[in-house]
Formats: sequence, C-alpha cells, structure tokens
Amino acid sequence: MAQRCCSKCFTDKNLREKIHNLGKIQRCIYCRSNEESTIETSELFNLITPIIEVIETNYRESETGLNIAEILKIEFSLFNPLTNIQALVKDTFYEHKPLLLDKKFELLSKDLDNGWEELKAELINKNRFFPQTTLYKEAFLEQGNLFNIFTNVIEELNY
Ligand SMILES: [Zn+2]
Repeated sequence: MAQRCCSKCFTDKNLREKIHNLGKIQRCIYCRSNEESTIETSELFNLITPIIEVIETNYRESETGLNIAEILKIEFSLFNPLTNIQALVKDTFYEHKPLLLDKKFELLSKDLDNGWEELKAELINKNRFFPQTTLYKEAFLEQGNLFNIFTNVIEELNY
C-alpha cells in the first residue's frame, strides 16, 4: 500500500518546497506531524532519484559500509531527526529498488578532493537535486559515466 510522507520529514529546503507544492494535506505516519503537505513515497523516490544515482555511481558495495538509509541520513543530511527514517526509506525503495535495501556502500575514495568534494558541496549546499558542477555535467549529462572519471582519477593518483 502506498504510504505518504510529508515535508517535515526532511530538513532540505529544496525538497521540502517541492513536497509542499505537490502534496496534499494529511497526517504523516513517519514524523507524526498532523496536517502537513504529504506525497506518496513513490513520488519521493522520483524526487530523490538524482541522489540515488550519485550514490550508486560513487559508492562501492562493502559489507562494512553504510546502508542506504544511513548514507542519506549521514552523508546527505536529508532527514528530520524525528522522522522514522528506517521505515520511510524501506517504503520508498521497496517498490522501485528493493535490492538497494540489502546493500551496504562505502565511498570509492574520500581522498579525491576536487571533483568529489565539489560535487558533494554542490549536492548538499547549493542545488542538491540538479547539480551544476562540471564534473556532474560531464558525468551525468554528456558522457554519462562518472565511474570511469573516478577510476581515471584514482589511477592518476596511484602513479
Ligand atoms: Zn512527516
């Protein structure tokens, strides 16, 4: 059954505005707010697809890594601390990307300064959902292969 989450479930201004504009007023089961603007979790999935792409492209699977909920919470500071994050993430991914829920990831390399830090700063601070960095544009819009770019950078660092 489709569940609904609300704008107060999140801390990100951009995302909150989008939910506010799209949503209908209802009680939210995830952060227990009454009469907030809510959207279905499948709509949330669509809104955060760019972040999911960044995670799938820039993080590698690792048994000692973080699960998708932890990455969204810690690395992207997406949620209001009062939100039932595990339940919301499970409901959001279950329909579209259930396999992601069982995976753990770690960042390819935290030492890659320029490109990655710039991209991350862009995602977090400026315009998270439509990043404008050169790296992002090259990776996602033109060549569509961020992994190769990072692989090349890592190889250059090793020689
Ligand atoms: Zn909520």
